[in-house]
Amino acid sequence: MRVVIVGGGIAGLSAAYFLERAMAPGGGPVEIFLVERASRLGGKILTLREEGFIVEGGPDSFLRAKPEGMALLRALGLESEAVAPRARAVYVLRRGRLHPIPEALLALRPDPQAVLRAGGLSWRGRLRALLEPWVPPRREDGDEPLAAFLRRRFGRAFAEAIAEPLTAGVHAGDPERLSAQALYPHLLALERRFGSLARGLRAARPAAPSGPAFVSLRAGMEALVDRLSASLRRTRILAGRAVIGLAPRREGRAFRYLVAMADGETLEADGVMLAVPAFEAARWLAPFAPEAAARLREIPFVSTAVITLAFRREQVAHPLNGSGFLVPRAEAFPLTGCTWTSSKWPGRASEGRVLLRAFVGRAGDADALAREDPELIRMAVEALRPLLGLQGSPLRAWVHRWPEGMPQYTVGHLERLAAIEVALRPFPRLCLIGASYRGVGIPDLIRQAREAARLLLGEETDPSGPPR
Ligand SMILES: Cc1cc2nc3c(=O)[nH]c(=O)nc-3n(C[C@H](O)[C@H](O)[C@H](O)COP(=O)(O)OP(=O)(O)OC[C@H]3O[C@@H](n4cnc5c(N)ncnc54)[C@H](O)[C@@H]3O)c2cc1C
Repeated sequence: MRVVIVGGGIAGLSAAYFLERAMAPGGGPVEIFLVERASRLGGKILTLREEGFIVEGGPDSFLRAKPEGMALLRALGLESEAVAPRARAVYVLRRGRLHPIPEALLALRPDPQAVLRAGGLSWRGRLRALLEPWVPPRREDGDEPLAAFLRRRFGRAFAEAIAEPLTAGVHAGDPERLSAQALYPHLLALERRFGSLARGLRAARPAAPSGPAFVSLRAGMEALVDRLSASLRRTRILAGRAVIGLAPRREGRAFRYLVAMADGETLEADGVMLAVPAFEAARWLAPFAPEAAARLREIPFVSTAVITLAFRREQVAHPLNGSGFLVPRAEAFPLTGCTWTSSKWPGRASEGRVLLRAFVGRAGDADALAREDPELIRMAVEALRPLLGLQGSPLRAWVHRWPEGMPQYTVGHLERLAAIEVALRPFPRLCLIGASYRGVGIPDLIRQAREAARLLLGEETDPSGPPR
C-alpha cells in the first residue's frame, strides 16, 4: 500500500512517524511519500538561532497535560531537552496598565481570593464573578458562542477583561463567533456535571498533573521537527514540491488516488492524508466531493504576525517579572499580547539581553499584515515603550507573518466536521488532519495524526504501540 501525506507540518510529520511505526521491518506493507511545498519541514514550527538568541516564529511551547506531546518527546529521546517556564505570572492590560492575573484565574477557576485580587476590575465585576457557583447551568444542548458561555458564567466585566483574553485570545479569535463546544468541551462538561466551573475545577484539581502547564525545548521548538524528520527512515520526503490536485479513481472494488504536483509529476496512492489547511484541501476536493469542499470553506482563518524584539537589559525599565501580558479586545492597543521570552524560558537570550515577542492580528482586523516589516516593528516598539519603559531602538528585530494562519473554530464547528466526514465516506483512506479540525495545539495534532494512521491502516494496527 502506498500512502501520500501532503503537508510537512507537525501533523503531516507525525502521521508519517505513526505509519512507519506500524510497518514491518524492511519496508512493506506501507510505502510513504510526504510532499511539502516549502523547502523546509515544520510548517508553523520555526526556530531561528542567531547571535545568541533563540527566536520562535510560531509556537514557543505546548500544553503538557495533553499526553501526546510528552509521549512523542519521550519516544524520540527528547524528554531531557524539555524545559519548563521560569516565570509563570501573566498580566492583562487594562486602561493602559498591566495587572497580574492571579494563578487560579489562569485556569478560569474563580476562587474568591483570586477574584478579589484581580486587578483592573470594578467591584461590581468582581462580585458578579464570585456568584459563578450559584449561576444555574445551561439547559439547552448544542453549541453556543464562547463569549455567551463566559458571560453567562462570570458576568460581562470579568469575561471581557480576563476570561476572553485567556481563551479566545490564544486563537486570535472573536469570542462572539468562536465555538464553546469545539474549543472548551471540558469546561462545558464541568458545568453540566458540577453545575459550576468553580466547583468543577476545584474537584478536578487533584487529578491534574503536577509540574508546569507548558513545556518548550531547550534549543527551540524546531528541535522537535528536526528529531521527528530524522527519525523517518522509510518515508520519501519531497520538499519544495507543491500539490495542486487530487483525483480518486475506482479500480474494481478498490480506490486509488492520483496526487498531482505543480511540476507535472503525479503520484498514485492507495491512501492520502491531507495535512494542509482546510481551504487548501477544499480546492482539491471540490471536483469530486463538492459538499465536503463547501463545508471546508466555511472554516474561517485569521492572519497574524509575530514581532520579536531584542534589547539590552538596561534599555528596559520594567522588571519583566512574568511570562508576558494579554490584551482584551476592548483595549485600544495595536498588539494582541506580548511574551517576555527571555524571562519565560531559559537560554533564549545571552546574558544582559532581553527578548520580547509581540503579536498582531486577530479576527475582525483584516489590515494587521498590511504594513511592511519596518513599520510593524516600529509600531510594536512604540506600543511597548510606555508600558515597559523601553529606551532607544531594538538591537535586532524579526517579523514572522502567518497569513490565514489561525483556523477559527466558529459555532457549529463540530457539526461541520461531522458533515465533512459523511461527505467523504465514499472515499476510503482519504483523511484530513491538521489545525483546521480537532485542536490547534501541538499535542492535538500529534493525536490527530496517530488516529488517522490507525484509521488508514485498519483498526487492527495500533501505530502508537512498540515499533515492529
Ligand atoms: C504564531 C503562532 C503561535 C502558536 N503558538 C502555539 C503554541 O505556543 N503552542 C501550540 O501548541 N500551538 C501553537 N500554535 C498552533 C500550532 O503552531 C499550529 O496549529 C501547528 O503548528 C499547525 O500544524 P499543522 O501541521 O496542522 O499545519 P502547518 O504547520 O501549517 O503545516 C502545513 C504544511 O502544509 C504545507 N502545504 C500547504 N499547502 C501545500 C501544498 N499545496 N502542497 C504541499 N504542501 C503544502 C505548508 O507549507 C505547511 O508546511 C501557534 C500558531 C501560530 C501561528
